[in-house]
Amino acid sequence: MIELKNLSKIYRTDTVETTALNNLTLSIPKGSFVAIKGPSGCGKTTLLNILGLMDRPSTGEVLLEGIAAGNMNEKERNRMRRSKIGFLFQKFNLIASLTVFENVELPLLYHKVDSATRKSKVTALLKQLGLEGRMNHYPHQLSGGQQQRVGLARCVINDPELILADEPTGNLDSKHGEEVMELLSELHRDGRTIVMVTHNDSYASYASEIIKLSDGAIVT
Ligand code: ADP
Ligand code: MG
Repeated sequence: MIELKNLSKIYRTDTVETTALNNLTLSIPKGSFVAIKGPSGCGKTTLLNILGLMDRPSTGEVLLEGIAAGNMNEKERNRMRRSKIGFLFQKFNLIASLTVFENVELPLLYHKVDSATRKSKVTALLKQLGLEGRMNHYPHQLSGGQQQRVGLARCVINDPELILADEPTGNLDSKHGEEVMELLSELHRDGRTIVMVTHNDSYASYASEIIKLSDGAIVT
């Protein structure tokens, strides 16, 4: 699904140069569930952003299903991201001015799905996640656990093959954290590839592989 070859990312400001990723080589097979661990600042978010085609490496290569992301233009990158990749964030990143329904509907609008199909798909998914009574609520009217379930609905509404989750349980209590992990496990069993950053050892144990990063490099 993903191959990284000698990937490095260096951030430069006027005064500081930070090597966020240092010569990573890694391959993630289709259908795997990978957890990424490591101390704050070791490059986890940078790595996910590059995997998700949100950011570009300074040097090295990213191949998604054999296609070199470095050779794609912005339009092709956007198309690839929107059709194949779903994101889940620690801070949920829902749009405050949109309702639950509208937040989940948004990815379908990018794909020009017609209104009747949007309505039935979004309603069915929200119902499946126990949110049918919250469709017209705004994000601030929901608990953290409910907001992350909306985040998950938005993440999977387009049926992405690859799910990238950056500390998705970081702002949740253990009950809701486990609920999110169960939902991610289900998506994994359905055949999705999942890459998840976590600090929590018991959540990392849901994964089939654990990658430990330190100072932008893979330790184990
Ligand atoms: P993690 O997610 O593991 O906490 P990050 O990937 O966010 O780490 O950051 C890795 C390193 O890169 C850190 O030292 C951080 O300060 C630096 N960094 C991240 N983003 C930027 C940026 N946009 N500009 C400059 N430095 C950055
Ligand atoms: Mg981070």
